[in-house]
Amino acid sequence: MPPCQPYQSGRGFRGRRGAAYRQHDTEGEGRGGEQEWGRERRPHDAHRRDVSAGGRGGEGGRGGRGKHPAHLKGRDIGLWYAGKSSFKKKERDREEMSVVQIDAKKETALCQLLKEIEESQEACVAFKMDARAKPVATYQGVKDGSLAGLEDDAGQFESGYGLTSRGSAMSLSRDNSASNMSALNLAGGTSEEADDVDEDFSLPEMDEDMGDLAAELKEINRSNKIGGTSLPTKLMTQLCRNETLDGKLLVEAERKQADSHWLKMQGFRRNLPSYAMQQKIVETIKQNQVVVLSGETGCGKTTQVPQFILDDYIKRGDGSLCRVACTQPRRISAITVAERVADERAEPCGGCSTGYQIRLQSRLPREQGSIMYCTTGIMLRWLTSDRVLSRVSHIVLDEVHERDLQSDFLIIIVRDILPLRPDLKLILMSATLNADQFSTYFGTCPMLHIPGYTFPVTEYLLEDVVEMTRYFPEGKALQQEKRDSRRKQRLLCQEDVMRQEEYSSQFPVYLRTLQGRYSVHTVDAIRVMNTEIVDHQLILAVMRHIVTGIREEGAILTFLPGWSDISNVNKLLSSDTMFRSKSFLVIPLHSMMPTVSQKEVFNRPPPGVRKIILATNIAETSITIDDVVFVIDCGKTKMKKFDVENNITTLKAEWVALANAKQRSGRAGRVQAGYCFHLYNRLQQSLMDAYQLPEILRTPLEELCLQVKLLRLGLVQPFVSRAMEPPSDAVLTLALRNLTTLNALDENEDLTALGFHLARMPTDPHTGKMILFAAMFRCLDPVLTIAASLSFKDAFVIPLYHLAGNTQLVKAVICAGLYPKVAKLDKLTSKSRFVLPRLSTKTDGTVKIHPKSVNAEEKEFDSRWIVYHLKMKTAAVYLFDTTNIAPCPLLFFGGRLSIRSEERGEMIVIDDYIELHVPTCTAYVIKGLRRELDNILEYRITHPGITDWTSTTTEGAVLRAIVDLLTTEVATIVKDIQGKTLPVIG
Ligand code: ADP
Ligand code: MG
Repeated sequence: MPPCQPYQSGRGFRGRRGAAYRQHDTEGEGRGGEQEWGRERRPHDAHRRDVSAGGRGGEGGRGGRGKHPAHLKGRDIGLWYAGKSSFKKKERDREEMSVVQIDAKKETALCQLLKEIEESQEACVAFKMDARAKPVATYQGVKDGSLAGLEDDAGQFESGYGLTSRGSAMSLSRDNSASNMSALNLAGGTSEEADDVDEDFSLPEMDEDMGDLAAELKEINRSNKIGGTSLPTKLMTQLCRNETLDGKLLVEAERKQADSHWLKMQGFRRNLPSYAMQQKIVETIKQNQVVVLSGETGCGKTTQVPQFILDDYIKRGDGSLCRVACTQPRRISAITVAERVADERAEPCGGCSTGYQIRLQSRLPREQGSIMYCTTGIMLRWLTSDRVLSRVSHIVLDEVHERDLQSDFLIIIVRDILPLRPDLKLILMSATLNADQFSTYFGTCPMLHIPGYTFPVTEYLLEDVVEMTRYFPEGKALQQEKRDSRRKQRLLCQEDVMRQEEYSSQFPVYLRTLQGRYSVHTVDAIRVMNTEIVDHQLILAVMRHIVTGIREEGAILTFLPGWSDISNVNKLLSSDTMFRSKSFLVIPLHSMMPTVSQKEVFNRPPPGVRKIILATNIAETSITIDDVVFVIDCGKTKMKKFDVENNITTLKAEWVALANAKQRSGRAGRVQAGYCFHLYNRLQQSLMDAYQLPEILRTPLEELCLQVKLLRLGLVQPFVSRAMEPPSDAVLTLALRNLTTLNALDENEDLTALGFHLARMPTDPHTGKMILFAAMFRCLDPVLTIAASLSFKDAFVIPLYHLAGNTQLVKAVICAGLYPKVAKLDKLTSKSRFVLPRLSTKTDGTVKIHPKSVNAEEKEFDSRWIVYHLKMKTAAVYLFDTTNIAPCPLLFFGGRLSIRSEERGEMIVIDDYIELHVPTCTAYVIKGLRRELDNILEYRITHPGITDWTSTTTEGAVLRAIVDLLTTEVATIVKDIQGKTLPVIG
C-alpha cells in the first residue's frame, strides 16, 4: 500500500484533488493555454494543463471563448476546431464521471485498520497459521504524526475502527447461536430441512459437519476433474426386504376389499382406459428396464400406473421391495395427484403408501412399499446425495413430452444410471409424445400405448366459433395496419418471420375455401380479424354461447397466455351483468398464486353455480379438473426464448404447438363428452409446430451448468452434449462465462465456494447470491422479500425500493446479487442528477426501463448506475426490476477492481466498464477493504455460521467499516459542466 497522505478535510473535492494529483503531474503548470492547440494540436497536453489547474479551479469555460491561433491556415483551422471540440466532449465526459471520496478522518482510520490486519496476518503466519491464535494486533490509538487530529473524533465512529484487540482473519468467530445465517441453513445437507432434500432419500453421509463443506466442495471438484466417471459406491438398491411389512401390506390389501370408499373408487378406476391394460403394463415393465408409455389425457397414467406397479409387488408378497418415484413438472400437480391416489387407496396422503415432496412442502409416504410423487427438481436434488437413487425401485418420469430443462437433464442422468443399476426400472410417460424419439434415446426400448379418450371432445376452430357466436371483431381486435406489423417484424426471429410470410401468402386461398361452407358474416370476420392479440371479447362471446346456446352443465376452462390476459378477462367478467351474478364462480389459476388457493379449483361448486377457470398452460397437462366440460383455447402460450447472440431473454405469447392444443382439448373430456373451442383458424393450425421447442434450446443455462457441477457430472459441455437435443456451444459458453463473472465458477470450471452454495439454492444464481450476502450483512428480511418476488415468473410487479431498515445496505446487497447486470445513465441535468431515457449497458447499447417498472416513472436519479434483474427484448430492450445504485456498492460487491493511473489521478475501473475517480489514497483504501471483504466472504462461505460483528474481530471491524461506508460515509461527487461540485449522497 502506498503511504497515505493526510488530507485536510473540509475543503471540498476540488481543493484537495490538486494536492493529490500534483505528484503525478509535474509539468502542467504554466503551460501556455490556447496557443498550445495551435502549435502542437495535442489535445492531451491541454488536458493535462487543465488537470493541474484543477487544484486552483477556474478552468471552466475558458476553452469556449478561444479562437484558433492566427498562424493557422486553411484546413488546419478546421482541424484545430475539430480537435478542440472532441477534446471538450471528452473533458465533459470526465467532468461528469462519478467521483468517490471518503471523509478524511475516516479514511485515515481505515488505513490504520488495514495496516493492523496486515500485521496480524503476518503474525499469524509467524504462528504457523494457528487457527486459534489469540488476537495479535493491539490497537495503540492512532497517534503518530500523520494521523494527527483523529483522536478527537475516534469515539464518534459507532463502528469502532479503533480497536482494542483483533483476531486474525483465520480466527473468525464460529458462534452458532440463532441468526440470520442459520435461518438459511447454509450448513447444507440434511439440515436444509423442509427445503429440497428428502430425509428419507438422503444417505447418512450427507449429515455433514459444517467444517466438511470445504472438503465436500473439494471432493466435488475432484470428481468433476475425472469427468464424473468415478463409480458410486452403492450400485444396488437399498430397499431391503422387510417381511413384517410384506405381510402387513398383503393383509391390508385384502381388508380393503371390504372398504366401501375403496370399492367406490375401485369402481371409478375400473372405467379408466388404463385399467384394461393393467396386466400388460405390469408385465412389460417387469421384462424391460425401460418402457415408454403413452396415452391420451385422462386415461389414467399418472394416477394408475404407479399403483399398478405397487399393487403387483404387494400381491406377490414383495411390497417392501417397491418404491415408485414419479416426477411431475409442476408442484401443484404433484400434490393433487398424490392426494387423489391416496384417496383412491382409501388412505391418508403421507405416512402410508402414497405421498409427495415438492420444494418447501412434503407429505412423505413410508420408505418402503410406497409411491412418491415429486417435482423433477426434487429428484435432481436427491441425486446430489444418492447418485444412483438407491432407495428407489421404479422411476416414473411423467409428462416427458413437455421437454422442460429439468426433465431433459434428469433423462441424461437417469440414462447414465441404468447400466449401474440393472434392477432399476424406468417408465417414461406422456399424453401426446414423440414416443419414437424417447425410445430411440433409450436404445429402442419398447413402447406401449393406452388407447382412447376418457370421453370424446368435440373440437371447433375459429371459423366454427365465429359462425356459432356470430361474433364480429371491433377496435383492437381488427387487423392492424401494415405499417405496424412491419415494425413488429424486426423483432421476430427468422423462423417467425417465415411463418408469418407463409400465412399471408396462403391466406387468400384459405379464405376462398371458407366461402360457401360458412356464412358471409363469418368469412368477413375472419378476413379482418387481428391474429396478433388475444381477443377477450371473443372469449366472452364464447362463454355466453356456452351458457345460453349450448346450455349444458359443466365448468369452463379457459387457456390464456399469461397473468395480464387472465386478469383482464377476469375484469371483463366481473363487469358483465350476466357473469358477475352468483351463478358463476370465476377462478384465476396461475403459478403466481399460492398452492392453497389454487386447490379451490378442484372443488365442485354448489348446484346451479358454474365454475369458470382462467388458466395458463399450468392446466394443460397433469392437473385434472374433474368437472370441466368446456375448454376455450386462445391458442397462445407465453414462451421464454433466449437470444444467444444478444444474451437477451424474450417472453412473448406464441402460438402453441399441436401437441399442446391436443392436451388442452383433452381437458374437456374428463367426466363426460365435452367441447373445445380453439380460437385460431384452420390455416394457423396447419402452420403450427407439432411439438414445442425443448426448453434446453431456448433458455440461459447458468442453473443447468451449476447443477452439472454439483452432481459431479464432469465438464459441462461433454455432459450436456449427451442430451436428446443439446444446445449450441455458444449458449453454454455464454452461461459459463456468466458464472465466472458471478464468481460461481473459477477459470478451471471448478465450483467456487459461492458457486457451491448457489447451486444448492432453489433460486437462480443471482438471487441466490443476493440472499447469501444479505445473510452475511444481516439484512435478510427485506432481501428475502425481494428475492421471493423476483423469482415469480411475472416480473412486473415488484418495487425494489420500498424497503424497511437500512435501504442503502439492502440496495448494496441487491447489487451484489445482480452484478454484472448494470446499466449506465448517460445524461446529466444541470442539477447534477441523472435522467432517463439515456440509458445503456456494456453489451446492448441503448436500453429502456420497462414502463411497468417502478423506476420508469422516476424523473431523476442520484447516481448514474442502475442494476436490474431481468433484461428482455420486446418492442425494445427493456430492463425490469431496476434500482438506482451508488458507486460504493459497486466497489465492494461488483467485479474485479483495477486501479488505473491517469494523468489527473487514480481511477478505479470495475470490469473495464465502470470508471470512478478516486483520490489516490482512497483508491488503495478501497482496494484494501475490498480484499479483506473478499477474504471474509470466502471464509464465511466455506465456514457457514454467523458473521461476527464484534468490533474487536477483524471480521466485525471490516464489515462494520464497509457498512458504514455503504450507508453514510462515501460522498459521491458529480461535477456538472460548469465545474461546480455538488455532493450526492452515496
Ligand atoms: P393421465 O395422467 O393419463 O392424464 P390421470 O391419471 O391424471 O390421467 O387421471 C385419470 C383420471 O382420474 C382422470 O380422468 C380423472 O377423472 C381422475 N382424476 C385424476 N385426478 C383427480 C382428482 N384430483 N380429483 C378427481 N378426479 C381425478
Ligand atoms: Mg398425467
